[in-house]
Amino acid sequence: MSAISKIPDLDLREAAWNEFVAAVRPLLTPATRFAEREMLGPKTTMRVGGPARVYAEPASVGELRHLLVAAHRRGLPVLMLGRGSNLVIPDAGVDGLVLSLAHEHWQKFEPQPDGRICVGAGLRLKNLCGLATKAGCKGFEFLEGIPGNVGGALRMNAGAMGGWMFDVVAEVELMSFAGELRVMPKAAMHVDYRHCAELHEAIALGAVLQPAASAGPTDIRRQIDVYQKKRVESQPREPSAGCIFKNPPGTSAGRLIDEAGLKGERVGDAEVSAVHANFIVNRGHATSADIIGLVRKIRARVKDARGIDLEPEVLLYGQEWRDVL
Ligand SMILES: Cc1cc2nc3c(=O)[nH]c(=O)nc-3n(C[C@H](O)[C@H](O)[C@H](O)COP(=O)(O)OP(=O)(O)OC[C@H]3O[C@@H](n4cnc5c(N)ncnc54)[C@H](O)[C@@H]3O)c2cc1C
Repeated sequence: MSAISKIPDLDLREAAWNEFVAAVRPLLTPATRFAEREMLGPKTTMRVGGPARVYAEPASVGELRHLLVAAHRRGLPVLMLGRGSNLVIPDAGVDGLVLSLAHEHWQKFEPQPDGRICVGAGLRLKNLCGLATKAGCKGFEFLEGIPGNVGGALRMNAGAMGGWMFDVVAEVELMSFAGELRVMPKAAMHVDYRHCAELHEAIALGAVLQPAASAGPTDIRRQIDVYQKKRVESQPREPSAGCIFKNPPGTSAGRLIDEAGLKGERVGDAEVSAVHANFIVNRGHATSADIIGLVRKIRARVKDARGIDLEPEVLLYGQEWRDVL
């Protein structure tokens, strides 16, 4: 596309955003946070990246639907934001409607008479673990220390200590980007290592979780403490997005990076952690470009040393890694 033809495209896009904002604002209550050009970096654990063209924290299902339908009609992209713990936000930000379920409406934790638990997608995993412990529900301990919420954990099928999110899921309530609601049983969903296919094009609103068993809060707490100790000993304290690469079959990405002599390697303020080689940490003022540069460097060195192509686990928000690597 030539520079000359780009300008009208950008103008049209900007006009579509302005029209979207004008159309949707009157449909929202004051309880819904709604802002243009909201900075996203501070909403992530890596703490890098630019603004969202439009950002909203809907306070109800109805308002979420208004936002989705208005964006869908104009062909404007929608992106979900959880607690931003598995993301690198590009320095230029994202030209999209970024939705977060941070409002308390999405944070429910409701044990049911049949023993299952209804949770909202905005509930922090830390709170899920704490509330499940108090309720004497076992099976969620492995989620302690994963700094995301239920929605992000479903989309990523987050896992640790030999368990993963979909081990404890019975069904998921989701809304398509066109605003249609449905409930899907786990058996109908396609989940894999750090992946849930249905949530590429839909939003998880909540889930019904199935505890593994009942147990006393003290027993459950003991297991959580063991996992917490493991994390404290093996993970860096600086801002990061967790493990940057997926483990290739049969080996660990951290070991490959360590063996390639990359601990402490830097691009700008992005550094391969000396504590855990599969973490890139932000040493203060890293940019998204620094992190992408370091990801490139690590991949090239591991490919040279071992012939293995490391695949990022962390998502590049609104873009595909293959387009920048
Ligand atoms: C210190 C540290 C330790 C970590 N340890 C682990 C670990 O042990 N195991 C592990 O698996 N991960 C780990 N992570 C990574 C991360 O915490 C998980 O991937 C987590 O599940 C991401 O949740 P989030 O709410 O932060 O999602 P985000 O990072 O905000 O988003 C991740 C993806 O989920 C999508 N998403 C968010 N909410 C929804 C929703 N409601 N509906 C549909 N899509 C949605 C987003 O669009 C994005 O595609 C760690 C990260 C850090 C910083």
